[in-house]
Order: sequence, then C-alpha cells, then structure tokens
Amino acid sequence: MAWVLSGLALPHRLLSRNPFHGCDVAETDFFHHDDVVAVLTTQPLDRVLDYRAPEGGCFAGAFVEVPLGPRKVIGVVWGAGQGAVDPSRLRHVIRVLDAAPMRAEMQEFIHRAADYTLTPLPAMLRLATRAPGLGDPPAMRRILRATHTPPSRWTDARRRAMEVLNAYGGLALTLAELTEAAGVSSSVVKGLIKQGSIVEEETPRDRAFPHLDPARQGKALSEDQAAAATALCAGLQSGAYGTTLLRGVTGSGKTEVYLEAVAECLRQGRQALVLLPEIALTAEFLSRVEARFGAQPAEWHSGVTMTERRRIWKMIGQGGAQLVVGARSALFLPFQNLGLIIVDEEHDTSYKQEDGVLYNARDMAVLRASICGARVVLASATPSLESWANAEAGKYDKLVLTDRYGAAVMPRIGVIDMRSESLPSDRWISPSLQQAVNERLNRGEQAMLFINRRGYAPITLCRACGHQIGCDHCDARMVEHRFLKRLVCHQCGDSKPIPNACPACDAEDRLAPVGPGVERLSEEATSLFPDARIATLSSDMHGTARDLKAEIEAIAAGGADIIIGTQLVAKGHNFPLLTLVGVIDADLGLQGSDLRAAERTFQLMRQVAGRAGRAEKQGIAMLQSYQPEHPVIRAIVAGDEEGFWRAEAAERQQAGVPPYGRMAGIILSGPDMQQVFDLGNRLARNDVALRRIGAQVFGPAPAPIARIRGRHRVRLLVKADKSAPLQGALSQWVGQLKLPAQVRLAVDIDPQSFF
Ligand code: ADP
Ligand code: ZN
Repeated sequence: MAWVLSGLALPHRLLSRNPFHGCDVAETDFFHHDDVVAVLTTQPLDRVLDYRAPEGGCFAGAFVEVPLGPRKVIGVVWGAGQGAVDPSRLRHVIRVLDAAPMRAEMQEFIHRAADYTLTPLPAMLRLATRAPGLGDPPAMRRILRATHTPPSRWTDARRRAMEVLNAYGGLALTLAELTEAAGVSSSVVKGLIKQGSIVEEETPRDRAFPHLDPARQGKALSEDQAAAATALCAGLQSGAYGTTLLRGVTGSGKTEVYLEAVAECLRQGRQALVLLPEIALTAEFLSRVEARFGAQPAEWHSGVTMTERRRIWKMIGQGGAQLVVGARSALFLPFQNLGLIIVDEEHDTSYKQEDGVLYNARDMAVLRASICGARVVLASATPSLESWANAEAGKYDKLVLTDRYGAAVMPRIGVIDMRSESLPSDRWISPSLQQAVNERLNRGEQAMLFINRRGYAPITLCRACGHQIGCDHCDARMVEHRFLKRLVCHQCGDSKPIPNACPACDAEDRLAPVGPGVERLSEEATSLFPDARIATLSSDMHGTARDLKAEIEAIAAGGADIIIGTQLVAKGHNFPLLTLVGVIDADLGLQGSDLRAAERTFQLMRQVAGRAGRAEKQGIAMLQSYQPEHPVIRAIVAGDEEGFWRAEAAERQQAGVPPYGRMAGIILSGPDMQQVFDLGNRLARNDVALRRIGAQVFGPAPAPIARIRGRHRVRLLVKADKSAPLQGALSQWVGQLKLPAQVRLAVDIDPQSFF
C-alpha cells in the first residue's frame, strides 16, 4: 500500500497533558462496558477504528484483540471513540490481552516518532509490538518438583529422574526438560507423579530477570572518570530530561563511567537501556554488567529466541527487568519507568535503520527520553558531527575523558605514502607495512590488517572482453566470496557459482578477480607471513553472534598473531596484545560522493587506530594512502580532533547541509524505469508546498544504485533550513501524488547513506 502521510485523525488522550509531568492513569482513562473506544491496529489502515469496550471494560492503552472483517487482529486502545459510526453498528473488543497497557508516554513517543519520520502510525506500532505470542492467553507452564515421598518401588529410570530433579535443587523442570536431562521416557515421570514422588505445579511462563544489585562496589575510578560519573549521576538525580555527550578516546573508561550512571538509575528504582551497535559486542558487555551488578541483564537483539523476546517484552512492561542491553529496536520496548538510555558508539551508522521504518535510534532515544523525563548518554571516541554540534550549541552537556586508563597510551599514527612503495599490482601489503608486521611477530605481539571490504575481490573481470560480472537484479557488481565459493551481490544478497566461462563472450578460464577484499588480503598475508597464525574476521564468515564472540575472545587472549578484518573489528573490541594496526586502503572512504565521507573516514580510522596498544605497550597505526596530503588524512595523523570537527563543521555550515540544515531523501521505485522517472519529474515540478517553506528540491536522478532486486530507483533530495517545518511540507508535497500500485515511495528524513 502507498504511504499514508496525513489524514490520520487521532483521538489523542495526551494532548491535554504535559508529558513532562506524571503520566499516571486517571479516572477518564478507563472505559466501561459498551463505551466507544478507538483502537489502533498494526494493520495498514489510515485511521483508528471504533469498537465497543468489552465486558469488564478496559483501560486506555490496553492491548486488545478486535474483529476486523473476518479476522481477529491485535491493537491498542488509543483513546475514546470518534463517534463517526452509529454505535449500534459497532462490534465489541473481543478481549483484553494479558499485557500491561501501553503507557501514555509510549503512545506519545510512537505518535511523535511517526510524525518525525513520516511513518504511518500502524507501522510504528508494529515496531513496538514485536513480541511473539502477545495475544496468547495468560502464559502458564506445568513444572515438576520433587517431594519427600519415595516411590513404592525403585527402578534405574526412576532413580535417574529423581536424581536429576534433586540435583537441580529447588529449581523446577518441565516434563520435556526432565525427560531429556534424565534420559527417561515420559511414562516413567508420570508413574512418579502417580506415586506422589513428584508434584506438578503451574507457574507463569515468563519469569522476572535476576536482580541487579547497584550497591555492589564498582571499580575505583580515576579523577577524570570520577568527575564524569558524578556529573552523570547528578543529572539522574535531577529527575529531568537531559542529554550528555560522553567523549573519550578508546580505552579511557567510558564504559566504566556510564555503568556508574546505570547504578544510580537502578538505585532510583528506574529502568535503564544500553544500546550497542553490534550484537558481537553484547557478550563482552554482559560479562561486565555481571561483574558490576552480580547478574546478567536482559538482552534484546535479532539473535535472541522468540520465547526470550516475549519474556523480555512482558517483563519490561511489568517492571521485572531493570536493565536491557540491546540493538536499536530495544528503544521500542514498553519500559515502565525508563530513567536512562546509553547510546554507546553513538556515531555508528548501524543506529540508522535503512529499511522498513527509516529511523535513527540515536535521535529517537533523545525523543523518547525527553518525553519520559529520562537521561541520555551518547558515548563515543569520535562523535557524529550532529552530536558534536549539539554539544557545541549547548543543547547537550559535554563530558570529556582525555587519557587512556592506567598505563595504556594512545597509539601513534603514521602514513605510508603508497606512491613511493614498490608493489606488484595484485598485492596490497606494502614493504614498509610488511616490515612493521614482522617486527611485531618477532616480539610476540599482535598485528591487525584492516580493510573495509568483504569478500575476496570486488570485481570479477573477463580478460578477453572486459566484461564485469554484475547482479541480474541490481546495478551492482557481484563480489567474489572464495570462502563460500560464490559470487555475491552485496545489495540484494543474491549469489551464484563462480562461472568458468565469461557470460558475455564465452571465453573460458579468462575471468580474473580485481582488487582486494578481506579474504584476498588474508591469502596475501598467509604467503608473506607463513609462520604466523592468521585469524580473519568478517561478518559473513561466522555462523552466529556466539561463534563470533568466542572467536574474538580467543584472539584477544593471544590465539592469533595477525588479525585480518573488516569494519567488524573496528568496533569496540579489546585486543590487549595488539600493538600494530595497518590500514590497507585508508583512501577508500574518501572517494564517496557522500556528504559524510570525510566524517566517516575520520571516525573509522580513529576507531581502528584505537584498537592498538590498549594495554601497557604503545601501539602504532599505519595508514596506507595514495593521498597523504588530503585534509582528512592529515587531521587523523595529527590527532587533531577539534581541528577536524571545526573544519568539517565550517564546510557544512557554508553549504547549509546537516547538521546546519535539513535534508530528506525521496526514493521512488518500481519495475518500469520510465514510469518512476515520470513520477519523479511530476513531483519535482509541483513543489509549491516545499517552496512555501523555502526548501529546494533536487532531482530526480537515478539513485546511486539505480536498480535493486529488479526495481528501478529514482531519487529526489530536499534541502531546507534548519528551522523549516519540513515534515508538514513534505507530506503535503508527496501527498498530492497518486501512486500506481507497483510503485513505492519512501521518505528518508535525515538520510545517512545515499544509495
Ligand atoms: P572505553 O569504553 O572508553 O573504550 P573501557 O571502559 O572499556 O573504555 O575501559 C578500557 C579498559 O580499561 C577496560 O578493560 C576497563 O575495565 C579498564 N578500566 C577503565 N577504567 C578503569 C578503572 N577505573 N579501574 C580499573 N580498570 C579500568
Ligand atoms: Zn543484486
């Protein structure tokens, strides 16, 4: 269905209320049997629907099941009914679900997030109800417990079953768990139940999470760290919303500092959320939480089982979970009393969701906190220019940790000028870098080689006709993955075997890989350093987050001499033995047409460099570059962060682009190229709504990737002043376009990437 951008009339129970003050349930928030209520469902409708309250009534915010045509769907009682339909014709809410009602502040959050991102409200509600089995009846399960009554006759199987039950102490098991653990059939257990040696009990399926104890002692903090922690705690004690940018070089103890804020939040009896950019990072963080608070927090990301997801969702709503560690979607969990949101590595691009609902979790965290009077901590060694500018402007508080903790010192950063290195065309490790790696190997230290390209080679070229193998569905080259023995499209994920003959000219055995990827680099390293133990880390080479975690831990403990990796290794992992980082292609990020190319390169290079020398030994980062005089490369080498930010900020200010101006991307996509172009042109011509707010529209132009999964893509870019009411104008503007059935239109507010 087309995007519905306006016209959603909302009976909003919040409008009369100041969201910054208490949001307790008032008398008027209860609807009696037969009262007319408005229900928002997750179905793609452009309005809320009226129903009659069920027998026993319901609260505003209640999760309910309602009839919709022949189906039953799940929704939320959004407020009083609108009365457009004759009440005698309305159907009743079928039942109220066994879940804490959605709080008023959550309704407001969903509503405002939908308005900001121009997302239809039902799609936003879907994000907030991503727990399977929400509609299930009160979830109980049967568990088994040992009594003190022995059976009249012992058999081996009976003895094993009782031993297992007793071995687990008071902990009860389900029938399936017991039969499996004891290796007995269910009839053995049933026999024991009949004998009275085991009793069956019903307990709620979803148990609360173990208690985290904020009174336990944290690490003794350095003076800098203590000052920062005190400031964060003072913020929490104020009880009012506020955002703090916590800047500190990698290894300066940002995590230790914000754990103190988490402790303060828990002491106040409020809930805390820690967002991490990468699932692989959660494992290390979970152990740190356990060390600090004596138990593990709830963990929310795509790798968590469905049962566990439902448990978390319910427990968060009932106050049975104090701390959640998770990916960006954890922001939409139904917290009951949220006091603190940490966004770790806040500059990370993975906080921007790039498909479905397009939102930036960092910005939505600030929105959510401002609604419920919570604090936000944005932690990073290399903040986004957005957050840097907000701190400069005084909108965010700023705390800076300048030194690495303890004896650890910041790595030195140097450039290898590739123009003066002699290197064959199919090799990428320069003689200077090779020598530096050999020095580490001789000293028993670790070295890392970094390249931000997955796969073996980015291009597969026919040497007979010059053809480059592309994806059949996208305008993208297929990337050779030798590990998988396939060519893979990084756009749509399609893959095919590596052909023997060129698909264009049929010449056999003339296809050649061109350019380096992480797998090829690994091959080169193996031949240059035959005696070294080499570990290659790339997100597509590991089955699960757990495998990856185990591998990273083994490497950190000294299980490899050379680590070869993509972006994955740049993010927050600790490698205490690492003293050299070699960046194979530091220029790679500078070539993009992206407005954030310089910023991204700067952040990535600083992060990668930050992996080196985290223990007592000083590390060095060496950047291979063909343009060492480029301002970004120079700023990285000089370690002149403030200088870089100031220069970058001045340039953006001059150009009126984010964070000093506003942008929105419009992507039209459909099977027929001419059709999407025509629609794009029609939009561009009818830009009255935009001109009214002084905004400009650019395009239509083919999107940088002009075809994905067989759909042609055309892009328009809208630029406006920082203070312009962009969303309203945008929805008027695109609202005038009647979209044919096969054409989709997506609006990307504050676009981060430009593909
Ligand atoms: P960051 O989050 O800034 O990268 P971390 O909090 O991970 O830094 O700290 C880096 C390392 O130094 C960790 O192993 C951490 O346990 C240790 N560390 C930091 N501060 C202290 C402290 N005050 N006492 C003991 N160890 C510390
Ligand atoms: Zn493709």
